[in-house]
Amino acid sequence: MDLTPEQEAQLDVLMEKTPEQRLRARYTVLENGCWEWTGGKFSNGYGQFGPLGSAKNQLAHRVSWTLRHGPIPDDLVIDHLCRNVSCVNPDHMEVVTQKINSRRGRGAKTECIHGHPYDEENTGWKHDKKRGWRRYCRACARETRRAKAKDKTFLRSDGGEERDPALYESRRKDRSHLTREWPTTF
Ligand SMILES: [Zn+2]
Ligand SMILES: [Zn+2]
Repeated sequence: MDLTPEQEAQLDVLMEKTPEQRLRARYTVLENGCWEWTGGKFSNGYGQFGPLGSAKNQLAHRVSWTLRHGPIPDDLVIDHLCRNVSCVNPDHMEVVTQKINSRRGRGAKTECIHGHPYDEENTGWKHDKKRGWRRYCRACARETRRAKAKDKTFLRSDGGEERDPALYESRRKDRSHLTREWPTTF
């Protein structure tokens, strides 16, 4: 028997599942870290948590944030930093004033400074204590990694290249290799 999302939510309530259980059963984790809501959705794409509670609390992302952090202050709204309104990952959300939220919405960047798209595949997430969760461009990160790896490439005396990180470390510590000859022409 196939249940509609609304019926499933009703059933959850009858079975007295906790909000946590109900939330966990209703999303899949995408590669970019978004918790994509798989339950019912409102026409604007926001996840619909269940049949009970106030209209505000039926929004799945608000329920998820509340389960993590507690009640949302009345004058504040939740901003999806990932711009995916059906995402219920509290780490991808921030409570802000309505004013900030609409300003952000208008000016949301869709690509990085190098023109790579901030789409599902290319958007990574990192966290630091000071600034919280921030998105980054995966393509740029890849290029940076590559450039760093290249930095660790050594010319051997026979003219070949060496990419052994252990060798890099040992040579870095033992500074005698610094006298090795680099090619004079490039
Ligand atoms: Zn997300
Ligand atoms: Zn980029």
